Amino acid sequence: LVSREHHPDRTTVQVGGVPIGPDTVTLIAGPCAVETPDQTLQAALMAKAAGATLLRGGAYKPRTSPYAFQGLGVEGLRILTDVREQTGLPIVTEVVAADDVATVAEHADMLQIGTRNMQNFPLLQAVGAAGRPVMLKRGMSATIEEWLMAAEYIAQRGNLDIVLCERGIRTFETATRNTLDISAVPVVQRLSHLPVIVDPSHSGGRRDLVLPLSRAAIVAGADGVIVDVHPYPDIALCDGPQALVEEDLTALSATVRDLAGYMG
Ligand code: PEP
Repeated sequence: LVSREHHPDRTTVQVGGVPIGPDTVTLIAGPCAVETPDQTLQAALMAKAAGATLLRGGAYKPRTSPYAFQGLGVEGLRILTDVREQTGLPIVTEVVAADDVATVAEHADMLQIGTRNMQNFPLLQAVGAAGRPVMLKRGMSATIEEWLMAAEYIAQRGNLDIVLCERGIRTFETATRNTLDISAVPVVQRLSHLPVIVDPSHSGGRRDLVLPLSRAAIVAGADGVIVDVHPYPDIALCDGPQALVEEDLTALSATVRDLAGYMG
């Protein structure tokens, strides 16, 4: 279902009226975690001012350590919907458990499946039946074939509104948090009709890498980038070192605009 063999034209997925697909480069931005109403609104306003058309923000956080901030849950979803009302930005947010899919789908415009859940098959089936577009992140140790098969689980439940997100993979390299597999962009676009975006924030794990990795992603043909933004990264409860501040975001948005125009 997700293969290009039987579906030669590349797909555009609509998220709350915002297209992600071959004719555009979509900028998605927002805080890694929803922490407070004020922090989320400020991050959303930064994102909007920079030209982002979708707001990302995690209410359910899949953290490596059980002692790390796990997200605000339903309260976080309420904050996101309030911020959507105030800014007009549709929401992308992660769901980590099949039991929460209906609740998250009630609030969100797009459901995110994170790297750690790429092969959580009951969760994939649940989001496939939830009636919302899905962003499927690549598992950090998954091959492209495994990633596309995970997408197939969602598609099999009748949902072809799937956007694939390359977010870096595990390699021997320790200088970056993950290794951005830039070749995944053209490889997947050749194999599948689904849009492919890149997450340079979780790939590099460092603010200074977000701009160069975004450039690489767009030039490689990515259909969008998704970046972390925070008004006060020094006190962020999650992934502060990779969050962009206002001036980084302005530089990023100029790059996205220029390169997207250049790529035609
Ligand atoms: C995220 O986008 O908030 C996230 C946790 O990303 P990943 O699943 O790629 O680690």
